[in-house]
Amino acid sequence: MACSDNTRCDGRIIIAIDGFSGSGKSSFARAIAERLGYIFIDTGAMYRAVTLRALEAGAISKDRVDAEKLERILDGMKLEFRVGENGNSELYVDGRRADERLRSIEVSDAVSRVAALPQVRRRLAAMQQEMGRVRSVVMDGRDIGTTVFPDAELKIFLTADPAVRAARRYKELRAAGADVSLAEIERNIRERDAADQQRAVSPLRRAADAIVLDNSHMTPQEQMEWVLEQLRARGFQPSG
Ligand code: C5P
Repeated sequence: MACSDNTRCDGRIIIAIDGFSGSGKSSFARAIAERLGYIFIDTGAMYRAVTLRALEAGAISKDRVDAEKLERILDGMKLEFRVGENGNSELYVDGRRADERLRSIEVSDAVSRVAALPQVRRRLAAMQQEMGRVRSVVMDGRDIGTTVFPDAELKIFLTADPAVRAARRYKELRAAGADVSLAEIERNIRERDAADQQRAVSPLRRAADAIVLDNSHMTPQEQMEWVLEQLRARGFQPSG
């Protein structure tokens, strides 16, 4: 890609996708990355991996998250995304592929408390910036367009009807064999939306220059067409 006013001069492109829990950010981001040959970075998986480790280490109790213990956990943790043979990028924690435990309701219930800690956000944001330093990426999360890559070439704020979001998560988790109820998922989504919007450091909010996409009634193909159109409108010629 040519170096123009609206690209980084090395031609890298950052696509930032933020939005509410269960709005389909990861599936959308993964599909875009596959289509364009970029790397997909699921930053929620990073916060979930830290939370799982903290739960295992007993650093999280009902009324307290032990911040010091968490710092030690972070010091000894290596998070990286590797692209597999199928072209998908997957999170590896200390050299091991992260598994479905990251999506469990226990992790989902604790993750927003861990993600509210400034020291955790600082470290994970630095790792994410490093991941986007050398390659074009599609990164999804809550603070990508506002904090991690405020200069991203394209920022999308994804949203969907809360009932639609809960039903999607329910379907995913049941398909993966989890024993959860729709009511439990609705509660979790509501609580995380509130906690993510209200935290002091990098709260979830739409960046002023992000475009809102409500995908409640859109198919994956329609979403893909929409994003390619957005890129073209900004002077990029998506190939592939
Ligand atoms: O995207 P996902 O739902 O897997 O994210 C899990 C949680 O991680 C969110 O509810 C939020 O608390 C936290 N998170 C965050 N910042 C990000 C990504 C995720 O605070 N960039």
